[in-house]
Amino acid sequence: MLKGIGASQGYGIGKAVIISDISTDYSNVKYTDAEAEKSRLQAAVNTFISETNALAESLKTNAGSKESEILEGHIAMLRDPFMLSQMQESIDSGVIAEKAVDTVCNMFIDIFSATDDELTRQRVSDIRDIKDSLLKTLLGADGVDISSVEENSVLIAKDFTPSMTSKINKKNVNAIITEVGGVTSHSAILARAMGIPAVLSVIDATEKIKDGAAVIADGFNGDIILNPNEEQIAEYNKKQSEYIAEKENLKAYMGKESITQSGIKKAVYANIGKPEDIQNVIQNSAEGIGLFRTEFLFMDRNSEPTEEEQFEAYSTVAKAMNNKEVIIRTLDIGGDKDIPYLKIEKEENPFLGHRAIRYCLDNPLLFKSQIKAILRAAVYGNIKIMLPLITALDEVRKAKELIEECKTDLKNAGTNYADTPVGIMIETPAAVMISDILAKEVDFFSIGTNDLTGYIMAVDRGNAKVCSLYDTLQTPVLRAIETTIKNAKANGIAVGMCGEAATDTALIPSLVKWGLDEFSVSPGNILLTRKTICNCP
Ligand code: PEP
Ligand code: MG
Repeated sequence: MLKGIGASQGYGIGKAVIISDISTDYSNVKYTDAEAEKSRLQAAVNTFISETNALAESLKTNAGSKESEILEGHIAMLRDPFMLSQMQESIDSGVIAEKAVDTVCNMFIDIFSATDDELTRQRVSDIRDIKDSLLKTLLGADGVDISSVEENSVLIAKDFTPSMTSKINKKNVNAIITEVGGVTSHSAILARAMGIPAVLSVIDATEKIKDGAAVIADGFNGDIILNPNEEQIAEYNKKQSEYIAEKENLKAYMGKESITQSGIKKAVYANIGKPEDIQNVIQNSAEGIGLFRTEFLFMDRNSEPTEEEQFEAYSTVAKAMNNKEVIIRTLDIGGDKDIPYLKIEKEENPFLGHRAIRYCLDNPLLFKSQIKAILRAAVYGNIKIMLPLITALDEVRKAKELIEECKTDLKNAGTNYADTPVGIMIETPAAVMISDILAKEVDFFSIGTNDLTGYIMAVDRGNAKVCSLYDTLQTPVLRAIETTIKNAKANGIAVGMCGEAATDTALIPSLVKWGLDEFSVSPGNILLTRKTICNCP
């Protein structure tokens, strides 16, 4: 048996499909003659164009035209006669097609990286994508096509990027297993959003589990059973049916109030990453959105979303929630959330580095474009702004100054906007220690236990070797939560929790007792959280 972190509930029983990193090493490929190399190159280019065209078409229907434009841009670059002629000339000088692709693409990467123009620099990742695809086609090194794996597959990879996860066909994938990540990493968040059981941080999973082997993944406790016997399969099939039955029973809490036995009303909100998640939120009858992780709008693209694109996303959510509260968190990048085109410098300790509000205050243009989009969207619903990773009062004041500047800019431009309350995440020990002071400066708190637990326990949430210390139920973390709620209450502001602990059935009774107002959880956990609250004294 292997062990990992149960990161998305449910039991997945199926056949292992290993998604391996594909090598693009061409050191063993021999040069034939220039004409043959050129026709290999042309064939690879043709394949690239037709495959990318097909993908762009399907993206247009499944995601939207903006996403497909990125791929159309790739095709345009490769159709540019200059790039192709450079590769052909390189072949004429006596090198194989792979080497020509590698050299010419690297040349473009160097040129683009060195310019001062942001848009040109952003094209570097496009060229990398093109290079990678061409090399894989030339080498015949096709990877597993995630979108078309067979029914009852259990996918195993070192990690799942958001773009890999978005290709998953839920119908055919019974579970996901990775070698890195934890309950709060993005692969886990996406797996939960899709309702697929996931076990993460399984050391050497891609080597220890053989492709095609039968496997059981327990998304609750992180157990992985290899080549299970009949008895084990029967046991887990039973567990899975009980789990499904329990989910059915939870439907009784659909559309109900979240109210304790003694009549105290609480609110169960949902965490989302994209407007598309709203359907699941409404289906599970959330009473609001407690955390819109806006960094997802910035991922898997080659440039930052414009103010207009963001306005579109935020106003869509505000309208869909029909005047229910929508808490939009400003960009929280850095840490485990890298966005290549933003060129965040590699850091020794990214979780202690230039993250979230720190990055935004140093990049006011980026921050202001997001704030303006939020203020404009606020006309269409009940929106609140939330600032992540606050550690000092000064950060809150600076952010509020920028928010005021945005209002002045919008007013001067005659653009419609609405005022919004401003709250902060309490997710650092520093913020807890000064929560009495911060409470006087902001309209609400939301406790981010995912980060708070890591920072208080001094443990990296994605590191398998120390993950047993990553436990929100440890006394130091509980004390921090209690202190934060107490200071919010003493200053008359609302306090919620949007970290994963808000759905922890062992913790909810204490949170209710301390006076937490709002519990924001992933859409799949709304009903269980409501049931637990309703059972509290
Ligand atoms: C948290 O830290 O608890 C939180 C909700 O933020 P994220 O998981 O996005 O860092
Ligand atoms: Mg956080």
